[in-house]
Amino acid sequence: MESYDVVVVGAGSAGSYAAYLLAKAGLSVALVEMKSRDRVFKVTGDAIGEHHINRMAIKPPSNVFMIKYEGAELYSPDMSVKYVVLGKGYGLDMGKWARWLIGEAERAGVTVLDNHKVQGPIIENGKVVGVRVLKPDGSIEDLMSKVVLDASGVGAVVRSRLPREWWISEPLLPEDASHAFREIIEVDYDIERPEYIKIYLDANVAPGGYWWLFPKSRNTMNIGLGLWGKLSEELGLNPRHNYEKYLMNSNYTRGRRVIHVGGGIVPTRRPLPSLVGNGVLAAGDAAVTVNPVHGGGIGPALLSAELASKAIIEAFEKGDYSESGLWRYNLEYLRAYGIKQAMLDVFRLMLQTLTNDQLNRGLRARLLTEDEVLEISEKGTLELSLFQKIKVGLRLMRVPDVASKLRLALRYMGEVKALYSEYPSEPRGLPQWYSRLVDLYRRYAGDLGITLKWVSQRF
Ligand SMILES: Cc1cc2nc3c(=O)[nH]c(=O)nc-3n(C[C@H](O)[C@H](O)[C@H](O)COP(=O)(O)OP(=O)(O)OC[C@H]3O[C@@H](n4cnc5c(N)ncnc54)[C@H](O)[C@@H]3O)c2cc1C
Repeated sequence: MESYDVVVVGAGSAGSYAAYLLAKAGLSVALVEMKSRDRVFKVTGDAIGEHHINRMAIKPPSNVFMIKYEGAELYSPDMSVKYVVLGKGYGLDMGKWARWLIGEAERAGVTVLDNHKVQGPIIENGKVVGVRVLKPDGSIEDLMSKVVLDASGVGAVVRSRLPREWWISEPLLPEDASHAFREIIEVDYDIERPEYIKIYLDANVAPGGYWWLFPKSRNTMNIGLGLWGKLSEELGLNPRHNYEKYLMNSNYTRGRRVIHVGGGIVPTRRPLPSLVGNGVLAAGDAAVTVNPVHGGGIGPALLSAELASKAIIEAFEKGDYSESGLWRYNLEYLRAYGIKQAMLDVFRLMLQTLTNDQLNRGLRARLLTEDEVLEISEKGTLELSLFQKIKVGLRLMRVPDVASKLRLALRYMGEVKALYSEYPSEPRGLPQWYSRLVDLYRRYAGDLGITLKWVSQRF
């Protein structure tokens, strides 16, 4: 039975980066990955903002980047409006990215156990003390540790198998997820302005989501769509089906030669009630850290890995691996990003109720300018001067139905921000705080005219 200070589950962006940071701090770390290390490859849109890369403690080699972006073009359903939102970023080669991160972790001293499949946590006396692992030879081994970090992606193999009374174990429901499918293809024409990723709002092609075309070079692209999981659940919609129907044989894919095909579930929701339990934390998709509006999750996976690692290192300094000992991760995560994530979750629920007609009219009326779109996506809110408020007010008058939804969302975004700013400084305050959160979302869902399972029944 092997024993480590920390077992990190999953060698994706979150797990490998956290393992690297923990080993650099002098801890003994096992990084457990079910795939073979050369085959770790996340199906994604491959796009990441430059600021996430700049924040990293290690500088990636240039070969993990396939293309540099200058910003995003956002199109209305009828294509009559195009917003250009500036912001630098990269298109990643996900295979090289994964191999580089795993290699860095190993060079820092991490024991990489690939082809090892974690079956779930080992719990003793109310604490996680390790994980049970299926080894490549078919045998089972218990890996013991003071702390387990679940970075196993959306399946969250550790936290989802914890007792339901643990706050960290809250299940991911379809209403809080996007179901996505994409292809990487070569085309036989030159993509226009390949230095801009392209986002298309269209409630037929991608209901409750969007479809995208992210160039990877002048003639290759990552093209796909994500739709609201609630609609998959209730209406049986399927992103692959919509891809084949609307995009696969379209003008955008002329001369299509397939390089890679795949899909996945993207958590697009408010933060978990808690990211920690006794002896356990979660990061990345396992901790639902994705931006709920645009679905970008690689950057937040790195950020949560960084903050989780800090909390773990401090727990080792104090010798306290309990929920209380790890709690600072919750507070730092909310401060750095989680409050914005919660506000964007409120905004995405409003967006998901808009029809194509409303999207067209709202975008045509320029209800939000390019700068305001950027501000909302960066800060999760709009801070307007009196003059700007008057200007926005005039624009709102032109499309009253969309404007009233926007106003509603902005009001609840303010409420959610205030509530998350009062997130309890210790675990015992959580039950009361959480019931206020449920109440807020229940009112919001009622005002928006949608049903949300998580507020009507506690999972
Ligand atoms: C179609 C699609 C498009 C997307 N587009 C973008 C985009 O353009 N930009 C962006 O930023 N984000 C995008 N996202 C989201 C982004 O890909 C994820 O948020 C991010 O990659 C999550 O990283 P992670 O390290 O948390 O999880 P993952 O990358 O999923 O890593 C988890 C790892 O855990 C391993 N694992 C799982 N179970 C076990 C087990 N039982 N035992 C051992 N190992 C296990 C897996 O093999 C995997 O290697 C997209 C997602 C999808 C599905």
